[in-house]
Amino acid sequence: MPNAKSLAIRSAGRRSKGGSLGATSSTLAYSRTQAPPTVQCAWCGHRFDGGDEYLTGRVQCARCGVATTSPWPSDEQLSAAYADWYRPESGRFSGLGDKVIRRTRSALAHRLHRVLPPGPVLDVGAGDGTLVEAFVRRGRVAVGLEPYASGPHIRNAEVEEVDGTWSAVIFWHSLEHLRQPARALSHAAALLAPGGTLVIAVPNATSLQARVFGDRWLALDLPRHLVHLSPPALLSKIEALGLRVERVSYMRGGQVVFGWVHGFVGKLPGHPDLYDAIRRGEARQAAHSPVLRLYALTAAVAALPFALAATAVEVAARSGGTIYIEARREPTPDKAPVS
Ligand SMILES: [Zn+2]
Repeated sequence: MPNAKSLAIRSAGRRSKGGSLGATSSTLAYSRTQAPPTVQCAWCGHRFDGGDEYLTGRVQCARCGVATTSPWPSDEQLSAAYADWYRPESGRFSGLGDKVIRRTRSALAHRLHRVLPPGPVLDVGAGDGTLVEAFVRRGRVAVGLEPYASGPHIRNAEVEEVDGTWSAVIFWHSLEHLRQPARALSHAAALLAPGGTLVIAVPNATSLQARVFGDRWLALDLPRHLVHLSPPALLSKIEALGLRVERVSYMRGGQVVFGWVHGFVGKLPGHPDLYDAIRRGEARQAAHSPVLRLYALTAAVAALPFALAATAVEVAARSGGTIYIEARREPTPDKAPVS
């Protein structure tokens, strides 16, 4: 089993990855670009042939049900979409936002650290490294892959460039940012030690909130999100990789309540963007007047009780805005004693 020194990341590479939340303010503008539509499903490889559903900014595959962002953004468009405003060094959110994120990542690391077999942890799409650092604080070797950050435990590489054996590979709101998510998942499964765990959190594109808010749903996040996954597509892929699904949650993985609050606020006149409003000034996509910001924040407070009720409904219906999965590689059976 490798340690931090022996793990091999074969070369530095480029990868498309963003953060945990997304802004929808760019969604409608992006969908009006004139590039030709995407020709192929990014999840299953099916070539779109007219039997598929053409939605605003994405095409839903008739074969696997997963939607692929369309038109498919160029590298230049993605770079622009991850420009400095997206994740400035000073942090993304005003007030308690960044603190809450640190605390929830720390709780995740704490729980996983207790149940994982010994060995290093790989966090694909590590963002600013909050989760990686939480593992390191607990004495576990952890490496994050992230092209838009740097740090002692962060590498700019694709998951396919990693080898070795890992006790966990984590895709925390990163799988949907990858150009070849199914290939990344297959490679991640091959990296797992016996008893090792694949951990995934992604937006649930067939959730109740996704259906209610449609083209303005927070987690559509075009063009940064390249695939829009459904639980059946994700679970069947994981099982096909020979992993045992041990935990599925529609409550964990963040964003569930916020997705509703954001959606309700966005339905008001002027479509205020709550996600932009709660970000620090330097982390906003567009400048906001204080009045507009106050309008969005006041509306959010008013919407909160309705959002909590809607969350309870969608979680009970197993149709929450995020799907969280833990899947394990079976431990190798003990060898029969030699007689
Ligand atoms: Zn497909």
